[in-house]
Amino acid sequence: MPYSVSPIGFLRSCFKEKFAIPRQPQLAPAARGVLELLAPFDTGEAVQGLEQVSHVWLLFVFHQALEDKPRLKVRPPRLGGNQSVGVFSTRATHRPNGLGQSVVKLDKVEAGKLWLSGIDLLDGTPVLDIKPYVPYADSVAGAYNRIAESAPALIEVRWQDEALSQARRHGLRLGEPLVELIEQCLAQDPRPAYQVPRPERRYGAGFWDLDVRWHYPQPGIICVLEVIAAS
Ligand code: SAM
Repeated sequence: MPYSVSPIGFLRSCFKEKFAIPRQPQLAPAARGVLELLAPFDTGEAVQGLEQVSHVWLLFVFHQALEDKPRLKVRPPRLGGNQSVGVFSTRATHRPNGLGQSVVKLDKVEAGKLWLSGIDLLDGTPVLDIKPYVPYADSVAGAYNRIAESAPALIEVRWQDEALSQARRHGLRLGEPLVELIEQCLAQDPRPAYQVPRPERRYGAGFWDLDVRWHYPQPGIICVLEVIAAS
């Protein structure tokens, strides 16, 4: 029988563009989303028992990074974007079959909907499968990865007063931990490592229905300038 895969659902995520999404799950616990299951998985039967599980693996398609020609070598941001390594030694989005996998926190289970946090997935991501995280098997004592030894170093995030008020207001409106989300994502320093940020240069990304803009007043520090309705 030929192989064929199709989505079991689509993720509605706080991340509206690729830029500023953390490079792995769990790095921004305030990053939340809802996985909306498609028929026939949306009746409750397929997720029965899942309320006994704290985390799940999502297997998904990097639908905004699909390419015709497979890459053999990639330049991971982890290595500063200027050193190439084999695609299979990285979690790069450009890969054969465009498959991604993330362990995310399962906050709530409903028939047809899973409420998730700690996600690193774009809005609209097609999800192919869900599997329960199994701590005794999935957490390997003594494992190492010399390319990515530990979580990326965090940088300081400051706020302009008005931007913080805007974020608090929109957070209340959305019922989301928006200040935390912005701080957790920007602290990862989304800027490509090869780019030296000039203070006058503005950066921006879309979270929920908002545009968040920031700059680097000095190297190693981000200052959030505004949090406004997305245009
Ligand atoms: N944890 C997953 C893995 O290891 O397969 C994803 C790792 S990948 C390095 C994380 C990046 O994928 C995010 O920073 C974001 O920019 C990108 N991304 C997330 N969802 C995507 C999608 N649906 N299409 C394309 N890129 C996506």
